[in-house]
Amino acid sequence: MTDPSVAAHPGPHTGPDLDRDLDLDLDLDLNLDLDLDRHAEWIAGLPKAELHVHHVGSAAPAVVAGLAARHPEAGVPADEAELADYFRFTDFDHFIAVYLSVMDLIRDAEDVRALTYGVAEQLHGQQVRYAELTVSPYSHIHRGIPAEAVVEAVEDARRSAERELGLVLRWCFDIPGESGIPAADVTLDTALRLAPDGLVSFGLGGPEVGVPRPQFRDHFAAARAAGLHSVPHAGETTGPQTVWDALTALGAERIGHGIAAAQDPALLAHLAERRIPLEVCPTSNVATRAVPSLAAHPLPALVAAGCVVTVNSDDPPMFATDLNREYAVAAALLDLDRAGIAELARTAVRSSFAPPDVAARVLDEIDRYLAAG
Ligand SMILES: [Zn+2]
Repeated sequence: MTDPSVAAHPGPHTGPDLDRDLDLDLDLDLNLDLDLDRHAEWIAGLPKAELHVHHVGSAAPAVVAGLAARHPEAGVPADEAELADYFRFTDFDHFIAVYLSVMDLIRDAEDVRALTYGVAEQLHGQQVRYAELTVSPYSHIHRGIPAEAVVEAVEDARRSAERELGLVLRWCFDIPGESGIPAADVTLDTALRLAPDGLVSFGLGGPEVGVPRPQFRDHFAAARAAGLHSVPHAGETTGPQTVWDALTALGAERIGHGIAAAQDPALLAHLAERRIPLEVCPTSNVATRAVPSLAAHPLPALVAAGCVVTVNSDDPPMFATDLNREYAVAAALLDLDRAGIAELARTAVRSSFAPPDVAARVLDEIDRYLAAG
């Protein structure tokens, strides 16, 4: 079966070769002049909410290695150390190519369930109490897993995570934008027809270049009419117009990334006035070369403009990070003390679509943690 989402990008084997040819070192960019140790221990214990993290992109190396061993023909390393090299990107298209090769490892409902529960364990280990996980049902359905089985697998993992780990998970079903309208149709159908209990929002991810947001206007309108929140990616790898399009054509209530808003004072003022939160993922933006370094990240400009800013991890193991590290990065970039870091955590909870009792519980936990010193 031809997979248009893969055909549109370099195949899995071009990733490591490209990396070697260009000899780029991710670590050099990521540690520039930032003291990430100062609050690291305190952040590790802080109760948190994660709003922008991708299901497949959150797969820890141990989980990916297990899947790679089950499916050796996919050509993904089954060794954790080799995986670290494999996950080193030259640019955004390269990242998408590697991401899709990991996606190819998920071939049956048990793979989906194991992946999802593995991600939940990673979040739980970082004191994440509530997370909205972005799931791309089309990508699994297109690879031959029935929609019903995908939904059943993630819902089973969600219930287990809440029961066994005390972690509350919710889903954002997102359209992989590079696969166009057919993918949007399948995503919407899965969301509305199967309507899993954990589903709270409808999203749009993948590359922005060549994927205009307005083409998905009707899909977002239908999702919103069914009560789902609109949370598209926009302004990650293209300019502020993409964020305007997400707001006007897709009714965005939160923006995935949105960092390009820093280039447009009118957009900054609009986002600040309407209290539309941005899901900022600093390390991801450097890893995909959307910004040249952490020190040059527009996060401080977004905060200075009065925007509602949350900090998130996007595809943490692929970017050699996790949510705790992203909080440390934000604390360094914004020169935050503990009270400031706690406020960042509260902002994520308030910007979430968590059930009110869950949000209240996590906010209370954050207050108590801060008060305890
Ligand atoms: Zn993302």
